[in-house]
Amino acid sequence: MGKVLVIGAGGVSSVTIHKMAQLKDQFKEITLASRTIQNCKKIKNKIKSKFNIDIRIEELDADNVSETSNIISKYNPELVINLALPYQDLNIMEACLNKNVHYLDTANYEPRDEAKFEYKWQWDLREKFEEKGLMALLGSGFDPGVTNVYTSYINKHYFDEINYLDILDCNGGEHGQHFATNFNPEINIREITQESKFFENGKWINGNPLSEKKEFDFPEIGKKNMYLMYHEELESLVKNFKTIKKARFWMTFGDSYLNHLNVLQNIGLTSIKPIKFKNTEIIPLEFLKEVLPDPSSLGKNTKGKTCIGTIVTGLKDNKTKTIYCYNVCDHKKCFEEVEGQAVSYTTGVPAMIGSLLMLKKIWFKPGVWNLEQFDPDPFIKYLNLYGLPNKIIELDEPLDF
Ligand code: NDP
Repeated sequence: MGKVLVIGAGGVSSVTIHKMAQLKDQFKEITLASRTIQNCKKIKNKIKSKFNIDIRIEELDADNVSETSNIISKYNPELVINLALPYQDLNIMEACLNKNVHYLDTANYEPRDEAKFEYKWQWDLREKFEEKGLMALLGSGFDPGVTNVYTSYINKHYFDEINYLDILDCNGGEHGQHFATNFNPEINIREITQESKFFENGKWINGNPLSEKKEFDFPEIGKKNMYLMYHEELESLVKNFKTIKKARFWMTFGDSYLNHLNVLQNIGLTSIKPIKFKNTEIIPLEFLKEVLPDPSSLGKNTKGKTCIGTIVTGLKDNKTKTIYCYNVCDHKKCFEEVEGQAVSYTTGVPAMIGSLLMLKKIWFKPGVWNLEQFDPDPFIKYLNLYGLPNKIIELDEPLDF
């Protein structure tokens, strides 16, 4: 047991592989395949020098299904862990179906030419995975991922029914750069410049991007402005918990970050429409990604904490109550442990945990699933054991907004 193929060699992947190397009895053979072999080598060298473990590396363009299928055949893993970009999800899932291997990712599929993400494309593969006795676990990062598990844990242990769900994502860290994103800049900017969307009484309500702001006092961080956004876990959570009346997602941004973003948007640099540049076509956002700091390089100088959690209001014995479950993660401590910042850490650890639960068959059923469709208890146990402990408190009253 324990042969895995990780695809993608960025900030999240580096954390996941560090955490797997810490559990070398469970993850016996790790292969890392990604577009730029140099980035695979960097991770390989770190793992060798810290743990004296040899991981195997391969250059791979995961946009190419047959190339991906060949790498799977060559290494014969039990599980493929997709830590590349959302564009690759469907192709990697197809390669897994070709070669009869289980699949896990941290972000749902997104077409390159449209900034739109939804689970439909991946959920449509449910029957194919079921027929082959294969399992795909979607969104095993923090949000989505841990936030789905928090919701099902709160539902299981604290309520008869849950009615109001707010997911709050705060990065209170400072990286010392004028402008940088926490994870892949292209995916990040596509996500936050989308229309906002929340769920209320069976309907989705759209709004202008980042137009609704609230202040919240985050544990161990303090007061921050957070903005209403659409985030992918809302789609699966309202489907899987039918009693939810309202579900929202909030993320904090500082004023300087928003000013930079506004300027970049105003001058067209966040656009995904191709433009002509010196006899070739380029996509402005892809160009912008190249000039922004690489998120995996931010760890060394990032200070402060993240706080991501879920606030749920519902009924227990006919009384209304509100529960807040959250994790606080310290950027510096993450860097000391795995040479990555807390946003990569909070994503990379749950990817390792989802993989471990699948390999041990603690979470296993054929088909395509989101995390809230499994018993949350083993995931919560591993979060506490492997670096992302949670706190659960009862709030005096529901959110007043
Ligand atoms: P990075 O950009 O740092 O890493 C992405 C990696 O994928 C890079 O190594 C890149 O290669 C590789 N890659 C890109 N295209 C291909 C391809 N066609 N074939 C093979 N490899 C490819 O991103 P992050 O590590 O920050 O993020 C990884 C994933 O995690 C993303 O999907 C992101 O959306 C998701 N995420 C999820 C979160 C959650 O909480 N659920 C939070 C944060 C991120 P190269 O080295 O050549 O650039």
